[in-house]
Amino acid sequence: MAKQVQSFNAEIKQLLDIVIHSLYSHKEIFLRELVSNGSDAIDKLKFQSLTHPSLLPDNWQPTLRLEPNKEARTLKIIDNGIGMTQEEVTQFIGTIARSGAKAFAQMNEEMKNKPELIGQFGVGFYSAFMVADKVTLHTQKAGTNDGTVWDSNGDGTYSIDSVPRPDGTGTTITLHLKEFKAEDEVQDFTDAWVLKSLIKKYSDFIAHPIKMKGEKDDETLNSQKAIWLKSPSEVTQEEYKEFYQHLSHDWNEPLKTVHYKAEGTMEFNALMYIPSKKPFNFNTQDSAFGLSLYIKRVFIMADCKELIPTYLRFVKGLVDSSDLSLNVSREILQQDRQVTQIRKNVTNKILGSLKELLTKDRTSYENFWNEFGATLKEGIPSDPANKEKLQDLTLFHSTSSDKMTTLEEYVGRMKEGQKDIYYITGDSLNQVSHSPYLEKLKEKGYEVLLLVDAVDEWVVDAVKDYKDKKLQSIMKEGLDIDTEEEKKQKEEELKQAETILRPVMDTMKKTLENDVKDVVLSERLTNTPVCLVSATQDPSAHMQKLLSQMGR
Ligand code: ADP
Ligand code: MG
Repeated sequence: MAKQVQSFNAEIKQLLDIVIHSLYSHKEIFLRELVSNGSDAIDKLKFQSLTHPSLLPDNWQPTLRLEPNKEARTLKIIDNGIGMTQEEVTQFIGTIARSGAKAFAQMNEEMKNKPELIGQFGVGFYSAFMVADKVTLHTQKAGTNDGTVWDSNGDGTYSIDSVPRPDGTGTTITLHLKEFKAEDEVQDFTDAWVLKSLIKKYSDFIAHPIKMKGEKDDETLNSQKAIWLKSPSEVTQEEYKEFYQHLSHDWNEPLKTVHYKAEGTMEFNALMYIPSKKPFNFNTQDSAFGLSLYIKRVFIMADCKELIPTYLRFVKGLVDSSDLSLNVSREILQQDRQVTQIRKNVTNKILGSLKELLTKDRTSYENFWNEFGATLKEGIPSDPANKEKLQDLTLFHSTSSDKMTTLEEYVGRMKEGQKDIYYITGDSLNQVSHSPYLEKLKEKGYEVLLLVDAVDEWVVDAVKDYKDKKLQSIMKEGLDIDTEEEKKQKEEELKQAETILRPVMDTMKKTLENDVKDVVLSERLTNTPVCLVSATQDPSAHMQKLLSQMGR
């Protein structure tokens, strides 16, 4: 096919505009993004060659390579990974097929100044345009002989052409670096020392060697250490953090790191993180989740949902198993007993870590709860095996304080004679905390849990009771909060009142003869002197309606 010039669609144009003109700091992350793409491409080729060995070129050694050229002001990032067909180039690079990038393009000013989000949005490749005024990509897909050259100045169009790639399978990205002014304080990305330190900083654990020509020979710039295979005592906080950023593209510190080796019936290493903040697209349709799966250090797949329950979808991390067969597919994973075992084990570990956080660092736990509590709670109805653990991890708003409470703490504060754990459900804290249903319980000094999340109805349904105390909605009919003694006493009081008030009530009844059927004494109201009750309707519900109409 002859060389073609095509236009980016409107969204890409917008995106490029943001990338080129609005991202000021951290320009260096382009290298991390491009290296990570090259490493992904090598992983993909490795994985596909497990079932199609002929895809691998002779004597293939997975390698990434940096080739800086000071005179030409270019930097090449080369990989011998899977490559792309021409169609794939147009699809992956030329249009925003991917919703992450679309979301980024739609983001407003505030986001524009947060380049650390760029990776999260999946606009990794475009970060090249932060430092380059022209980007050339030359690629050849494994198993084909057709090379494709793509290039663009980032100005709205790109050209695409069929050109054989001299190196065969793989991808070369050539950056024609911009001339920055001194006051921009941008590093020289053709400088060997700068490149070395950037690789150390962002890509040290990349599993394949990243090479560059040194004084005499090739130098390998990264240590390729799979930190998850080390024992936790050998890994520094800095290494954990860097690896987290690599996995999640989140520049915040992770809230908690969970790293362990499972031994016994099943052997695997797991390195997982609980983020401190929700990702921008958490709970949206395109938000992938799940752990990455490695088998004996070979990357198998990202976002493996079989390895972790949906209610732990905020967890980032990986599992490296020595038992699974390298030929796994998604279909196999879904039924594999070992995978089920891993999921169980991983779930236990995460819940255990959360419990530890709750007991040892309440403030951090409350931060966690604000971000992911509503998600974690979903497990109570959906994972009966872990119900007990999950309900112990659940925090509730309550009438007794501004701080959130656990069920255990609530039970510890229960008044003498209080039989049940009381709760009210509604749309907002403001709404439920002014509900007239609370009136009587307040008077008795009973604490009420305020439930305002969408899942809460299912949660209380599933919890049912805690430490032999029933979870009782105060909105349900027949709410019985008095002790036997109190009941007797009230009956007594009512009888006495009746004798005293009989004449008044008779007069009332007579006067209202045409309007009401009967006049009776009630102990149900506290601050409201009188209310109308319909004889045919549910009196409790009706009374509540009346009370609420009174604006309480
Ligand atoms: P992401 O890596 O999050 O998918 P990118 O913008 O970094 O987003 O890359 C977009 C897509 O382009 C990748 O998913 C991949 O399919 C393709 N791609 C990018 N770089 C390479 C490469 N070096 N080799 C093969 N495919 C690549
Ligand atoms: Mg990428």
